[in-house]
Amino acid sequence: MPQADSPALLSGQSADLLIAGGGIMGLWAAVYAERLGIDTLLIDAGRIGGGASGGLLGALMPHMPDKWNAKKQFQFDALLSLETEIAALEAATGLSAGYRRSGRIIPLPKPHLKTIALRHSADAEVNWNQQGRAFHWHVSDQPAVSGWIDPAAGGSGFVHDTLAARVAPRSLVSALRAFLDRARHVRIAEMAALGSLDAEAGTAEIDGTRMSVGHCIIAAGHASFPILQRFNPGLPQPLGQPVKGQAALLKADIDPAFPVIFRDGLYIVAHEGGHVAIGSTSENSFADPHGTDDQLEPLIAAAREMAPVLADAPVVERWAGLRPKAIDRDPMVGRHPDHPRLHALTGGFKVSFGLAHRLAEWVTREIAGQPAGFDLPDSFALSSHITAASR
Ligand SMILES: Cc1cc2nc3c(=O)[nH]c(=O)nc-3n(C[C@H](O)[C@H](O)[C@H](O)COP(=O)(O)OP(=O)(O)OC[C@H]3O[C@@H](n4cnc5c(N)ncnc54)[C@H](O)[C@@H]3O)c2cc1C
Repeated sequence: MPQADSPALLSGQSADLLIAGGGIMGLWAAVYAERLGIDTLLIDAGRIGGGASGGLLGALMPHMPDKWNAKKQFQFDALLSLETEIAALEAATGLSAGYRRSGRIIPLPKPHLKTIALRHSADAEVNWNQQGRAFHWHVSDQPAVSGWIDPAAGGSGFVHDTLAARVAPRSLVSALRAFLDRARHVRIAEMAALGSLDAEAGTAEIDGTRMSVGHCIIAAGHASFPILQRFNPGLPQPLGQPVKGQAALLKADIDPAFPVIFRDGLYIVAHEGGHVAIGSTSENSFADPHGTDDQLEPLIAAAREMAPVLADAPVVERWAGLRPKAIDRDPMVGRHPDHPRLHALTGGFKVSFGLAHRLAEWVTREIAGQPAGFDLPDSFALSSHITAASR
């Protein structure tokens, strides 16, 4: 498959599908386009996986098992099918995505949290018991594993959820890229930014080069919002915004099967090879989009306290990225209501890695005119976000 590093190589090209953005969303879309046999050009303004998807955490965190709805069902199905998708990807490429259903531990510092957790446990027995698979929300006095979370952290006990998982973001991105490097229908161009796009005429300008395109998927992470906004210039509110996050990677002698620890926005994720990712800040305003600063230090300190095995673990990397948060907080997916060849695939905010493959399948099948065989929650539709931004 030809690869273009320079936009000059795009000259004279056309594609039935242009995917703008090679993060987790655009990569999965390209994989599905390949499977569907759609002639596709995947472009990235920088490097593939160089945006938010090139981070450290990769926690795959289920929604709470209570108050079941279409959104929770969609995520449940996605978390289940991701297991199969990753196994297929690893078999095809020979690369590991660093995936493991390692579960999640949530400490319960107060008695009322235990009462709520016991209710959730009963909910999980019903709502997480589907398709021949049963996952649990165990509540116990002691942590599910020893040598990891401090037993004193759970004054009223611990939750151990068996549905949560983790993946190594950069390993998954590399595996997706390797799959696409062998694709028959997908070409990749890096350092190639989408400029103007005429969704009616089917033309796109990529770094000054004009191309003829059939459909276009906007999968440019947080940069998708201003691109999509151009097609609805009168909206009183932005379709979405970037939310900065900072994370750190520690090196420690730990069991990679240890569950993800989660408490009040603090994530501690054990990965393969003695790596532990810690995150994340959540910053709506920031001066430096990619730099790390002092806001990360309290998280690292809290993680060392929560998991004493990390007390002296050296920090091997600090990293920051911009999450795409859509106006309604949900993913922003599917056909534009007034421009049938324009499609959104963004807004995964904090849960993109667990959903991207399923959202990508939905969008590419929509383009191919094939039923996906599953429903997209109404609140995910691009049209629903446009309505929200018009209020
Ligand atoms: C600190 C931190 C921790 C996180 N932890 C988790 C977690 O544990 N689990 C989870 O599921 N999610 C997590 N997330 C969120 C997750 O990383 C993002 O939601 C996800 O990576 C977004 O993927 P994307 O493909 O939409 O965007 P991106 O990965 O940002 O990709 C967009 C791509 O589009 C390209 N682009 C931009 N403009 C253009 C243009 N005009 N033309 C062409 N290309 C363009 C960019 O170069 C970029 O490569 C975390 C995020 C942060 C910052």
